[in-house]
Amino acid sequence: MADPEVKTAKIDEDACLECGMCVANCPMEAIDNPDDTHTAYWVDADKCTGCGLCEENCPADAIDLY
Ligand code: SF4
Ligand code: SF4
Repeated sequence: MADPEVKTAKIDEDACLECGMCVANCPMEAIDNPDDTHTAYWVDADKCTGCGLCEENCPADAIDLY
């Protein structure tokens, strides 16, 4: 289970440009797009440490931490 005290990245799939930068930058390999036919990138809450790297570097401002 993810620690409820740790913030988790959430991706706004409507805003996402599918650039893949968040996947490449995440130090925990917590972001993936396992289904190429689906636009939504997916964050594994159990892996995400809430470091904020993906949020800071997303060109579409499509990621927030909750
Ligand atoms: S960095 Fe932002 S725009 Fe690019 S794939 Fe990730 S969420 Fe989408
Ligand atoms: S907040 Fe950090 S650990 Fe979580 S998905 Fe973004 S880059 Fe990965």
